[in-house]
Amino acid sequence: MPLSEFDLIARYFTRPVGAGGMVRQGIGDDCALLDAGEGTLAVSTDMLLAGRHFFPDADPAAIGHKALAVNLSDLAAAGATPRCFFLALALPRADEVWLAAFARGMFALADRYGCVLAGGDTTRAPVVGGRDGPLTISITAVGEVPRAAAHSRAGARAGDQLWVSGTLGDAALALAHHAGTVVADAEAVRACRLRLDWPQPRVELGGALRGIASACIDVSDGLVGDLGHILARSQVGAEVQVAALPRSASLRAVAPELQHRCALAGGDDYELLFAAPPARRTAVLAAAEACGVAVTHIGRFTAGGGLVLLDVDGPVVDTRLQSYDHFAE
Ligand code: ADP
Ligand code: MG
Repeated sequence: MPLSEFDLIARYFTRPVGAGGMVRQGIGDDCALLDAGEGTLAVSTDMLLAGRHFFPDADPAAIGHKALAVNLSDLAAAGATPRCFFLALALPRADEVWLAAFARGMFALADRYGCVLAGGDTTRAPVVGGRDGPLTISITAVGEVPRAAAHSRAGARAGDQLWVSGTLGDAALALAHHAGTVVADAEAVRACRLRLDWPQPRVELGGALRGIASACIDVSDGLVGDLGHILARSQVGAEVQVAALPRSASLRAVAPELQHRCALAGGDDYELLFAAPPARRTAVLAAAEACGVAVTHIGRFTAGGGLVLLDVDGPVVDTRLQSYDHFAE
């Protein structure tokens, strides 16, 4: 078995966070939480590489948008309000047309949330074996959250309801279509491609769920894997009603097996997956309504038993579906 991305982090980089320091929550969640004066900062870093996270010839405005969006999505998972970010770039060349569009896409999103670019680093990607090294974008985003109000992956309790925002699986369908492994109609592909290239971080919903959600994660690597992170950190199990998974009209038009695969194990959704006690059901729905985002109750947390996927008639669906792991073969 190759070392997985998460085993690698656990084995080589995860160390105890000493008591009394400013790091209240370190490795293992969507954001680190840092105590700073009276407040708490939520900090997250995400790196995007050409050829791995985006197509090298993709619209640079979309790349700029997505590089920041995936970081704001982690802040949203913690319930934090975006404040500023840092941008590190390794560029094969200084292409001004590309840079102008990249900056336009990135700042349009930053300005929407009053999130200020506060610094960064810029370097030239080296030529390796006669080929340009990959364009690499790393963003660190900093948000603010009232002390003790941050959501984490821990905190889900048996009996809590499991909710997800928006719809799942569209980005995965767009990717599969691009790879030539599925055929879908042109309009559906266009809609799904928008979800893949221009993900909308659920910043408002993340903030509105403060004091309501008992645990939260953003779905970046697929529902099964990301729910698995909540289960591991909260030490609970969960049952998910597969038929209840929210799917767009585009996804509902493809074969049921493909719908399930995209919604359960696709990546790049950037929706919020969260736990809330049944008594907070009305509060969850009111928070979502206030933000103009749909939320769907898709299951419940259990005392143990791992993750169980239930079909309409009860039979268990294939649980071998995996989330995205950078080091899986
Ligand atoms: P997300 O998908 O929310 O961005 P990841 O799954 O990428 O989170 O990372 C899981 C956790 O591991 C996070 O808390 C992240 O900060 C941490 N992490 C990832 N890579 C490293 C690393 N090289 N060193 C230290 N921590 C890391
Ligand atoms: Mg995350």
